[in-house]
Amino acid sequence: MMYISTRGNYPPVTASQAIGLGMVPEGGLFVPQSLPILPSGIYTGASSYKEVAGVVFELLLTDFTEEELRRSIDSAYNDTTFDLPEVVKIVELGPDQLIMELWHGPTAAFKDVALQIMPHLLSCAKKKTGNSLHTVILVATSGDTGKAALEGFKNADGISIIVFYPHEGVSEIQQLQMTTTDGNNTSVVAVHGNFDDCQTGVKELFADATVRMQLRSSGIEFSSANSINWGRLCPQIIYYFTAYGEAVRRGSITNGETVDFCVPTGNFGNILAGYYARCMGLPVDKLICASNKNKVLADFFATGTYSRNREFFKTNSPSMDILISSNLERFLYAMTGGDSRRVTSWYEDLAKTGSFTIDQTTREAIDEVILSGWVDEAEVLSTINSIFAEHHYILDTHTAVGVALSRRFSGRGRKTIIASTASPYKFSCDVLGALEGTVPDDEFICIDRLSAVSGTPIHQALSGLRDRPVLHNRLISLQQMRETVLSIINDAGLSGRDTKAE
Ligand SMILES: *Cc1c(COP(=O)(O)O)cnc(C)c1O
Repeated sequence: MMYISTRGNYPPVTASQAIGLGMVPEGGLFVPQSLPILPSGIYTGASSYKEVAGVVFELLLTDFTEEELRRSIDSAYNDTTFDLPEVVKIVELGPDQLIMELWHGPTAAFKDVALQIMPHLLSCAKKKTGNSLHTVILVATSGDTGKAALEGFKNADGISIIVFYPHEGVSEIQQLQMTTTDGNNTSVVAVHGNFDDCQTGVKELFADATVRMQLRSSGIEFSSANSINWGRLCPQIIYYFTAYGEAVRRGSITNGETVDFCVPTGNFGNILAGYYARCMGLPVDKLICASNKNKVLADFFATGTYSRNREFFKTNSPSMDILISSNLERFLYAMTGGDSRRVTSWYEDLAKTGSFTIDQTTREAIDEVILSGWVDEAEVLSTINSIFAEHHYILDTHTAVGVALSRRFSGRGRKTIIASTASPYKFSCDVLGALEGTVPDDEFICIDRLSAVSGTPIHQALSGLRDRPVLHNRLISLQQMRETVLSIINDAGLSGRDTKAE
């Protein structure tokens, strides 16, 4: 299986090259040249999550050996990382609505499923492509991605990670989750500024040729952990299959029954993995793309025009507060039948003017696959409240966007599996507010109270957090980001295995 650029501007590469490169150097994203069919017996039979993962990876990461894949899978999915051997859990909300809980990993967010394995795939990919440089992963985070990346990359072979977050711009819980991270290769730095400042600072470091050359001479390269890397997208395809298989085994759907999936969406990574599962033979009719008030995708699917020229809102589903959905490019490539010329012209328009408009034929192709809409903050809260009243089940604010939207499409006579992307404990105060109206002004008290009200145990990622020692306490100005990175690298005595490597 080879990987090609959505913009037709790069020769085909192997899976390990695509994972090592992250994105196409000249712009564009790597996509698989074709998608193989996964026989339904693989996921509706008795196979475990890890076994299904093994088969999916063998089909897609064809230049990895069975042994490399097995080691990566065993390191990522085990009883020290996930609190369920099946990784993903199915819960029935009503006869037609099923929830797939994706948040049983170490940080209570769905990003763990991919970020637990991606570092192992990256280490492997580096060895296979002869890259002996030491990789420093730079991350700017508004809270959640930082912790999931830290947990995934901690102690990874030949890789270090530095996370920047806005000082006083993340919740107390998010800050503690990050600053208590152990591991011999992790650094967490608070920056005086907001998230955009951190993001801009990281982008400037990536673009700084002087720093890059200086690091190269000591055998070090920068890289990122973001969701445009095939090594992060590919693992997400697996749970669509295993969730379907689990729903069949528990009798919620019949084997072969066509279902819809509804996905609370930001960067379009999770829902795109669902689309790829559909291409690989999973019986899916529609993918329902659920947006919050930052409804750039809902507007795009309704009008054919994607425009980032709009106000940005901070909402109670912050992990979906995004105006550039990077992975949409891969979907549009598929919807045009692989027309990289059209994709290139749209993304040139986006870079130049902040918007682009697609043609009628592409819109019709999209309408075959996608339903979409958006949900405001008040409906998020009322949905959490009514689902708890009706089913005694607590939703987090992101999942509530999906549940609310899927209810609007409930007349379709199809069962819908809704992706639950975060544990409610991750957003305890908002969730408790939806249930009780008023909330204590302390996140730890909210967590305890939520557990008492719902009768559910506190997620492993958050219980005990209060007593964990803080291991990272750097606080810097924006201007100090560059020197901070260099001093972290210097203090750790980092260097590649072969400092003469080019
Ligand atoms: C990242 C995230 C999303 C959005 O997922 P995408 O793959 O970016 O579309 C939704 N919910 C939560 C809780 C997240 O952390």
